Amino acid sequence: MLSWDDEVAPAAPAARPVLQPQFDSLELRLQTQEAVFAPALVVKSDEVAPEIVARRVNAADKRIINGKTDVNQLVPFKYKWAWDKYLAGCANHWMPQEINMQRDIELWKSPNGLTEDERRLVKRNLGFFVTADSLAANNIVLGTYRHITAPECRQYLLRQAFEEAIHTHAYQYIVESLGLDEAEIFNAYNEVESIRDKDQFLIPFIDALTNPEFKTGTTETDQTLLRSLIVFACLMEGLFFYVGFTQILALGRQNKMMGAAEQYQYILRDESMHCNFGIDLINTIKMENPHLWTAQFRDEIKSLFLRAVELEYRYAEDTMPRGVLGLNAPMFKGYLRFIANRRAQQIGLDALFPQEENPFPWMSEMIDLKKERNFFETRVIEYQTGGALNWE
Ligand code: FE
Repeated sequence: MLSWDDEVAPAAPAARPVLQPQFDSLELRLQTQEAVFAPALVVKSDEVAPEIVARRVNAADKRIINGKTDVNQLVPFKYKWAWDKYLAGCANHWMPQEINMQRDIELWKSPNGLTEDERRLVKRNLGFFVTADSLAANNIVLGTYRHITAPECRQYLLRQAFEEAIHTHAYQYIVESLGLDEAEIFNAYNEVESIRDKDQFLIPFIDALTNPEFKTGTTETDQTLLRSLIVFACLMEGLFFYVGFTQILALGRQNKMMGAAEQYQYILRDESMHCNFGIDLINTIKMENPHLWTAQFRDEIKSLFLRAVELEYRYAEDTMPRGVLGLNAPMFKGYLRFIANRRAQQIGLDALFPQEENPFPWMSEMIDLKKERNFFETRVIEYQTGGALNWE
């Protein structure tokens, strides 16, 4: 049996590494971190030597990608927008179990509670979402996070990763509450063509970043990262979620599946923040690395947008083979084009489908909804004001 000492006793310390200004790998970063504590660099009096001050993190030196500053030092802030979004994400905290699912359960179990088309819509909808946020979480944790060198952005990504876990929890909670066939719903991304096609479109962009060999630092690899960030923020979170969100919120507007609709409402609010963070990240990388934004790269992004609109439209047709809830697939053609235009313009591309109007203006209202102005009027814990500790 191994004793504690066997497992953790460190080898005799090697010579302290000298300060290594090039952060080429995590290993070097850790060496550098150790170097910070090397005796020669410890402040020994009230007076800090100028060479020590000179090597402290300077906000102006920070970069979103390929940065050379210490990723463990959150401050001094440079990317205040990322920190503000982290704070806003925390202020919007919610948990799935806060929402009462009793009326949804009764409606689902009542033989005439929902039409067959409405049931199909709910199941196909969950079929996409139960795995979508796991893909998103894995993409952040195993991919994006390690390529981003701004600690403010990493801080937001940590919050975002937790929110993706809450979303997966919310979908699982709905599946469990309604007593749906878990194997059917959780396997839909393998078994339902319209869902599988969306996920297959995303996988190469996730794989590119999660590949342990992948490293930024050349124009080609930096473009690979930027392309994946665009696909993730603008097309996955910014487009592939929107048919599904609109469908469940449309049910809620007709007083059906109100608990599920409320969960989706909170998820939509989180996702629109994820999407906005992603867009700020993309635009800042573009600003810091203008050479990446070539005409060829922009053309490639445009064709990815067109393909994503097509895939999401096919998903709309598959989930709504007939009109349901006052919605039908053709209405989504316009809606998806409207959203794609907006995402393209947000990252500095021209609108792909000029003069498209929003057929669902009520969706914009939903996105902006604050917790206290809850559309579905059920009670929610206010984390923003209720978090103070009482020491008495
Ligand atoms: Fe997300």
